[in-house]
Amino acid sequence: MLIVQKFGGSSVANKERIFNVAKRIIDTHNAGNDVVVVLSAQGDTTDELIEKAHEINPKASKREMDMLLATGEQQSVALMAMAINSLGARAISLNAMQVGIDTTSTYGNARIKTISRGRIEHELDRKNIVIITGFQGVNKYEDVTTLGRGGSDTSAVALAARLHADLCEIYTDVDGVYTADPRVVKDAKKLNEISYDEMLELASLGAKVLHNRSVEMAKKYNVKLVVRSSMSDAEGTIVKEECKGATRWVVKSYSHNLKIIA
Ligand code: ASP
Ligand code: MG
Repeated sequence: MLIVQKFGGSSVANKERIFNVAKRIIDTHNAGNDVVVVLSAQGDTTDELIEKAHEINPKASKREMDMLLATGEQQSVALMAMAINSLGARAISLNAMQVGIDTTSTYGNARIKTISRGRIEHELDRKNIVIITGFQGVNKYEDVTTLGRGGSDTSAVALAARLHADLCEIYTDVDGVYTADPRVVKDAKKLNEISYDEMLELASLGAKVLHNRSVEMAKKYNVKLVVRSSMSDAEGTIVKEECKGATRWVVKSYSHNLKIIA
């Protein structure tokens, strides 16, 4: 199988977590799969970079902001490749320019137009685990762009669609999609599966599990998505077209609990 695994910032926040994720990636590779990994910037790196920029120039151009923010993801992929290599497996990190992730020109909120498969496939043929920067792209001026906050999810789904991956796993710090935010509402229930449309509705209600555009893209290209935790082996939530007994109450329950939180 070809599996795309995306790990969010909290999953790679420090050395222990990087090695935890590195082992998971190696296990997936050792099971006989081709593995393409997409990473976010570590922990609060993106927020810290924004703060840093504002200290220097509160009116910094969006072009320079993208140039700066894209460095967060580049740190993550290099560190992850180093961690995997130190554990005796083979990995190579690539940024958006090296892969060829072409986007529209809009700095700070660019959209992916095309992705080149050549370099990725070359590295997979050489039995490398391929670690790619989320969130970033390149526009027609050969400038770095970013996809908007939370955009690494969209990078992962776009890569999964382009590579015809069998599965796209989105690893985060909760073990799936819940009827409410489990960090806030005690009896929130984890869903085994949810439809793309319900997931989009939850996102519009403020659920921050997945970047909205990633779900739209998964729906359009029928990418099999799983949301799961990098800290546990729990099975997570499958996001797909049709769900058995698709449940309106999922969305209702979420918005109901949202009022309680607010
Ligand atoms: N690092 C970026 C952000 O904090 C992108 C992402 O995490 O998906 O928004
Ligand atoms: Mg995110």
